[in-house]
Amino acid sequence: KRKKELTADDLVAGIIKQDKVALSRAITIVESTNPRHTEKAAAIIKKCLPYANKSVRVGITGVPGVGKSTFIEALGKYLTSTGKKVAVLAVDPSSSVTRGSILGDKTRMEELVKDRNAFIRPSASGDSLGGVARKTRESIILCEAGGYDTIIIETVGVGQSETAVHSMVDFFLLLKLAGAGDELQGIKRGIMEMADAIIINKADGENTKAAKRAKTEFTRALQLYPPKENSWVPKVTVASAIENTGIRESWELVMTYMAQSKKSNYFEHHRIEQNKYWLLQTIDEQLRSGFYNHKAVKKQLQEQLEAVANNEITPFEAARYLLDLIKEQS
Ligand code: GDP
Repeated sequence: KRKKELTADDLVAGIIKQDKVALSRAITIVESTNPRHTEKAAAIIKKCLPYANKSVRVGITGVPGVGKSTFIEALGKYLTSTGKKVAVLAVDPSSSVTRGSILGDKTRMEELVKDRNAFIRPSASGDSLGGVARKTRESIILCEAGGYDTIIIETVGVGQSETAVHSMVDFFLLLKLAGAGDELQGIKRGIMEMADAIIINKADGENTKAAKRAKTEFTRALQLYPPKENSWVPKVTVASAIENTGIRESWELVMTYMAQSKKSNYFEHHRIEQNKYWLLQTIDEQLRSGFYNHKAVKKQLQEQLEAVANNEITPFEAARYLLDLIKEQS
């Protein structure tokens, strides 16, 4: 017997009752690429909005192997032990490119998954970073409506995913290792500039000394960056996700930041700016996907690319021809 499909109202009622199953199902609808779900997703988000917005949103990035999932597990456990409700979402556009996600392949956060006050959702899949990021952003709203007061968004240094995550969080955390150069760690300069805090992870055993040295170096390096809009000076600290040290200290940085940014009204201002940004991003992303998924465009794009390659047509003419295809039907 097929289960009756839950309505948007059913799902929202479940979310507000803090039912994880309802939250999961609602996120699945938000993530769905099936056009049949688009309206339902919009209805769910709209009904959740009045309950949302009360969380702290933290982005965490760092190259594969730096210890993101171990760190998030330690941080998550610490937070739930202080009575917080923690949701962990991920933006991992690599899954759509390579068909195997960098973040999702291993068994991750085994302890935190079992915690009743934690909700962990692997990355949405999609054919573009914009699409994946938008779905994550919408899922944040559902998690907030579900009573999660701390939202952690994890991402990996692939392409532009950091920029996308930075634009949906209040605080952006970069995990690094001591001793390896930036090139080795694949850290792009722009990412250092986005960070509100740098945490040198794996500060344990033989690594402890090097981590402390790195802390001094990064603190000095950060002073060379232009001051941030909100006058926050990025902080550097050391941690060991495995030995569970420096976790509380890391969180205290976030809390200090939150207190300062709420006092100066930067918090509100920043969220409004982020909403405006997401309005434009969403338009951008939907126009693109509308174009590239258009039947006639799909059929003709390859031909036009070849024609350009063979110098039979200029790129501008080809572009105009393709863009006109979608006008004809609408
Ligand atoms: P991710 O790819 O960034 O999510 O990294 P993982 O959390 O999967 O960790 C990668 C490896 O580093 C695993 O073998 C972890 O056990 C190890 N690791 C993570 N955190 C620490 C730490 O604080 N100290 C040490 N020594 N190892 C760690």
